Amino acid sequence: MEQILAKTKFADPASDKKPLIISGPCSAETEEQVLATALALAKTGKVDVLRAGIWKPRTRPGSFEGIGPKGLPWLQKAKELTGMPTTVEVATAKQVEDALHFGVDILWIGARTTVNPFSVQDVADALRGVKIPVLIKNPINPDLELWIGAVERIQKAGIEKVGLIHRGFSSYGNTDYRNAPMWHLAIELKRRHPELPMICDPSHISGRRDILQAVSQEAIDLDYDGLMVETHVDPDNAWSDAKQQITPEKFGELLDNITWRHERT
Ligand code: PEP
Ligand code: MN
Repeated sequence: MEQILAKTKFADPASDKKPLIISGPCSAETEEQVLATALALAKTGKVDVLRAGIWKPRTRPGSFEGIGPKGLPWLQKAKELTGMPTTVEVATAKQVEDALHFGVDILWIGARTTVNPFSVQDVADALRGVKIPVLIKNPINPDLELWIGAVERIQKAGIEKVGLIHRGFSSYGNTDYRNAPMWHLAIELKRRHPELPMICDPSHISGRRDILQAVSQEAIDLDYDGLMVETHVDPDNAWSDAKQQITPEKFGELLDNITWRHERT
């Protein structure tokens, strides 16, 4: 995994290495779905890390809340088959333990967890003495201090490699975006902490497929250090976030259509 990360801006945000590309389903649903998505992503040759939600923090009860630890061996198998390191969202100490037990390579903290210092501290305490990169999504509300506070809690637990994920900020009512990007906030944090890689999550910013390309391009134009995009072999029938997921093949095309910074004249 170290070698994969070392080739990207994740390891060195100031460099002009390639951005880190993370992709995979919003939720792990079945072993077949995880493996099929992982194999199709590997086939594009453009994806560095496989993501999948195992525990899903849903806004309302009654929707799919994640397959739970049963899905962790599926990710292990996907890694064996493709060589891609894996990442999952964790929100409690128990979830950290389970993820580590099954060899997950990178952990991320979700937007609904970053808002809660007790939860972030619980995760941080479970990480003491562990060496693993941790990505921290912005809180759902536009509060940079809360975001930085979560980074500090994880760093104080001894985690050396912390990255940021910008997934936009929620607002009431219908807007063009599911979560308004408010790019200036992420850029402000990037300016204050140039040592922390900033990854964009165009899927949760967009909430729909038709603007994923443009949001991804914007992030690359703003010199982000990576992209995390949700992909599914059968997006319309996904158990969560169906409207924003795309097939691995479409994601390959999206990446092909991006104008990367080094391609600019
Ligand atoms: C996700 O990545 O599937 C997720 C739940 O994201 P967020 O925490 O950004 O809402
Ligand atoms: Mn999702």
